[in-house]
Parts: sequence; C-alpha cells; structure tokens
Amino acid sequence: MQELMFLGLFVLALGIGWFLGRREAIRVGFMVQPHGSALDRQYFIGLNYLLNEQPDEAIETFIRALEVNPETVETHIAIGKLFCQRGDVERAIKVHQNLLARPNLTRHQADRVQLELARDYLAVGMHNRSERLLEELVENTSPLSAEALIDLVKVYEREHDWSKAARVGEKLVRERPDFAVTLAHYYCQMALVPLRQQEVSQARRHLQDALRVEPVCSRAMLMLAELEIGQGHYREAVKVLQRLATADPDMVPEALPLVRRCADNGALDLGDYLDAAIDRGPPLIDTVLARADDMRLQASISDVSRFVLQQIQVQPSLRGLMYLIDLHLDHVEGKGKENLLVLRGVVEALVHEKYRYRCTSCGFMAKRLHWQCPTCHGWSTIRPLKGRETA
Ligand SMILES: [Zn+2]
Repeated sequence: MQELMFLGLFVLALGIGWFLGRREAIRVGFMVQPHGSALDRQYFIGLNYLLNEQPDEAIETFIRALEVNPETVETHIAIGKLFCQRGDVERAIKVHQNLLARPNLTRHQADRVQLELARDYLAVGMHNRSERLLEELVENTSPLSAEALIDLVKVYEREHDWSKAARVGEKLVRERPDFAVTLAHYYCQMALVPLRQQEVSQARRHLQDALRVEPVCSRAMLMLAELEIGQGHYREAVKVLQRLATADPDMVPEALPLVRRCADNGALDLGDYLDAAIDRGPPLIDTVLARADDMRLQASISDVSRFVLQQIQVQPSLRGLMYLIDLHLDHVEGKGKENLLVLRGVVEALVHEKYRYRCTSCGFMAKRLHWQCPTCHGWSTIRPLKGRETA
C-alpha cells in the first residue's frame, strides 16, 4: 500500500515536472517537435513499466525523461529527497549527483543540491563525504550554512568527535539558542576522558563550559559535584548540589548518593536538603522516601507514616504504598501480617514492571536514566515519571 502511494506521488511529481519542463523549453524556444515526441515517448514507456508492475524500470525511465532545466530542478531535488526518506538512498545519491554536475544551476540551487547530497551520505553512514560537503557550505557562507551546521553537528555526533561537535555547536547556538541543551552535553561528553584519566582541571573546564552554555544542565552539575567530592572539596560539591536542587528538583534522586557522601562528611544536612527539594515540589517519590528514611532515625513510625501518606495522597505512588506496608509489617501479627504480606507481594510485582522514565520527545520508556534518548537521539529529553504517570 505504501509502495503504491509512493509511486502515485512520484508519478504526480514527475508529471508536474514534465509539464513545467516542457513549458519552459517551449518558452525559451529550444524545444522542437521531434524532441518533444521523444520526451512523450519516454514518459509513456515509463507508464507502461508502471502498469506492468516494474516500478524500478519505470522510475529510471521517468528520471531520464525529465529534463533538467531551471524550472525542473526543484522537482529533481524533491524526487531525490523522496528516495532518501523512503530509504532508497543509493538512488537519491544518483539523482543529486546528476543534478550537481549540471553547470547551469544557480548558486542557491547548487547549494540546496549539495545540502541534500550531504544528507544522503549521512543517511548511509558516509560521514567523511557528508562532512566535506557541509564544511564547504559553511566556509562559503552559503545562505544555507545554518542548516548545514545542524547536519554537520549530527555528523560529528555520530562519529563521537565531541570537540568538533562542540566547536560547530558554539556557532549554531548563536542562531538557535535552544541548541544550548545539546551543546552542554557535548562538553559533558568531552569531560568523560579526562575524568577517567584523573586530569581533574581539564575535566572541570569542560564541565564549566557546559554550565556556561546551559546553566541548568543537571548532568554537568552531577558530574561536577562528583569531581569535587573526589577531590575532597565537599563545600564546592554542596554548592553545586544546592544549585541542582533549585534548577531541577526532579534530578535530586540522581544526586542522592552524592548528597549522602556530603552529609556523611558533615558538609550538609540531609534532612534540610531534602525538605528544600520537597518544598519546591511536587517531589518525586524517591526524594520523599529518602526523606522518610532520614526521619526514621529520629521520628516515630506513625510520624514517618503520616509524612509518606500525605505525600502519596498528592502524588499517588506504588513505591510509596510499598514503603508504608513495610513500615507497618514489623508491628502487626497473625492474620493481619499475612494479609499485609499478600498485599505487599502484589504491589511489588506491579512496581517491578514499572518504567520510571519517559522521553518527552518520542515517548520512549526506560527503567534507567539516559542522557541521550536511544530512539530519537534527543539530549535531556528523558525525564522521570511522576505520580499518576507511573501507573
Ligand atoms: Zn526520544
């Protein structure tokens, strides 16, 4: 069905192109009748192939029939793009290469074809060729250079060449401020190598660059806090963790191991830190349960229960419910305990199956946090689920 639709669209595009080409040829006066007849013949041969269910031969014949002139260039570009979108990249490359070889294209047309050809190469993983064409567009300050930068950054990202990606990203962010979110992740990626090699100053510089372009980048804050803790700089780490709790309270659960290390070293009061995050609410259940754990050291079971209950009434949570059951298990006996254990088993089975994160861009569900979505490749698009979203 899809194939039929594609062929229908294809024939329509070619029909319009053929008509425009014919009109243009007549207008400029170089088309004489015999040539026109040859063109018609090719066109009908193509239709014949199509009716005999030989789509490949039909497509080849149609492309040959469609002359390249100023009015049909757009049709050729559109046909190539159509091929690329349906995964027939080899044919798209052929169409675009053929176009680019024409000497009579305007500068804008040549740039557009070059951009499409670079996208074809990117689609089949020929990164070097794609990179060369895109860099040329940027260097020649083509009016399409902003679009070329977007594709160039994709090439570097796929090659994991983070420093080149960041360099191009710095240019791109001037035109598209929302690109800062992605650019910050390039700097975080750059920091990974020096972090592994204990080159602390270099890693810190990259993370500070990430926060320069995106002051609320939670990944950079988490990495920086971990780096400072590793150096014994607990006060510095606490500053970063407090900044994280203000900028993105939903990321507090990711910071809990670091927060606990700071608390163990007396650099921060865990209860105060969690209370501040909860007050900015509505908090994630992990934050609530971490606070409940901390309360259990001093408060009574009924106070802790009341606190958790209040929170899960606002943000329903199966894990919150399981925590409440666990709190009461040690304080009941006999049939009551048996019933509670059955209930706990049911809730645990439900919790076990639950996804805890979702991509806000494509809906991908995950059990752990990914900084880049494995499906749509968006950065920072995966966020923790909250309250009823987890049900
Ligand atoms: Zn996604």
